[in-house]
Amino acid sequence: MMKNLSEREGTLYFESTNLEQVAQQHGTPCYVYSRNGIEENWDAFDKAFGSHPHLVCYAVKANSNLSILSLLAKKGSGFDIVSGGELERVLRAGGKAENIVFSGVGKTNDEIKFALEKGIRCFNVESESELEHINDIAIANNKVAPVSLRINPDVDAKTHPYIATGLKENKFGIEFESAQAIYLRAASMKGIRIKGIDVHIGSQLTDTQPFVDALDRVLQLVNTLESQGVTIHHIDMGGGLGIRYESETPPSHVDYAQALLKKLGATKKEILIEPGRAIVGNAGVLLTKVEYLKHNQDRNFAIVDAAMNDLMRPTLYDAWHAITPVTSRTSTPQAYDIVGPVCETGDWLGKNRQLSLEEGDVLAVENVGAYGFTMSSNYNTRPRCAEILVDGDKTHIVREREKLDDLLKGENIFPV
Ligand SMILES: *Cc1c(COP(=O)(O)O)cnc(C)c1O
Repeated sequence: MMKNLSEREGTLYFESTNLEQVAQQHGTPCYVYSRNGIEENWDAFDKAFGSHPHLVCYAVKANSNLSILSLLAKKGSGFDIVSGGELERVLRAGGKAENIVFSGVGKTNDEIKFALEKGIRCFNVESESELEHINDIAIANNKVAPVSLRINPDVDAKTHPYIATGLKENKFGIEFESAQAIYLRAASMKGIRIKGIDVHIGSQLTDTQPFVDALDRVLQLVNTLESQGVTIHHIDMGGGLGIRYESETPPSHVDYAQALLKKLGATKKEILIEPGRAIVGNAGVLLTKVEYLKHNQDRNFAIVDAAMNDLMRPTLYDAWHAITPVTSRTSTPQAYDIVGPVCETGDWLGKNRQLSLEEGDVLAVENVGAYGFTMSSNYNTRPRCAEILVDGDKTHIVREREKLDDLLKGENIFPV
């Protein structure tokens, strides 16, 4: 069972909060996050790097709820953003611009200008053209843009193909072979100040070796660059540390940090990391109610009130999430496919799960704190879920359930 989740007399508790009561009080479907879980994960990364200069830059796209950003901002966290929207969120949550790094292959001119105005810590530049855009925009606005080049190290992260980003065939980063020349160009640009070097090789990595291999390539390049007079102040290793969904055995935060520190050797350069999943993934559940049980000849279906629009990971990545009844029953379990109401065969949350269920039961889909709510949509004109944060035995609504008026806002009927 997930951290902070426990069974007490047949009922699931998250921290000291009864999840059956959360479902009753706030309705389903809803995401529920553990404050303690999030803070412990962030602290674990921070401590693991010990006295080596470092900054943990939480990857906002994993879960961008303002309350989570503000909890982390209070700890002095850095943030890794991938859009102007995420920049706005971090600033509104109290995050400091000087602790923000900006990643992504398609930053628009407006986003670059916005980030320059706010004074972010670093742009992680993903192409030579982007470097030129940033230089031009900086000069036009009398600024100097701090940059790292994101290098594609051509390292196999051995993860799902949709979340592997460090291979030559992927759209991300600058080819290793071209990086040196582009750094030298950057060094001569008036609107650019070189700060560091960056890699991000993928997500849900369950082994330290690909990280070490990527760092090895980075260090080679750093040596070459510094011998040519280009100073690199920080090394950004990206995110990607995996979590246990089913039976994976990812390295702990400490194992991960130790592997990087060992490879770094005597180098005292500041290390940045951009973890998302490993901070929030195992700190969230999705509560959903069984609306209908349908027993066909070949298969039993539990049709629940959450769907692929609420949690896209099962259908997008074939992801497996534990699904646990909030109140357990003693009747003989049966194999169920847990499916939603959306009109798509791909609308499933779990398949072939042994459960004993009755209509009206509440289920907890586990480990959905990362890439859960942030990937949700309004497909089938379904309002997005409420989000609740538990803190011990207290619950806070950190995002209200959307109303139909919220959904239809800004739409116009064609004036005939
Ligand atoms: C998505 C992403 C991350 C976070 O990845 P996790 O696997 O959630 O840790 C970090 N950096 C970049 C550039 C990303 O695109």
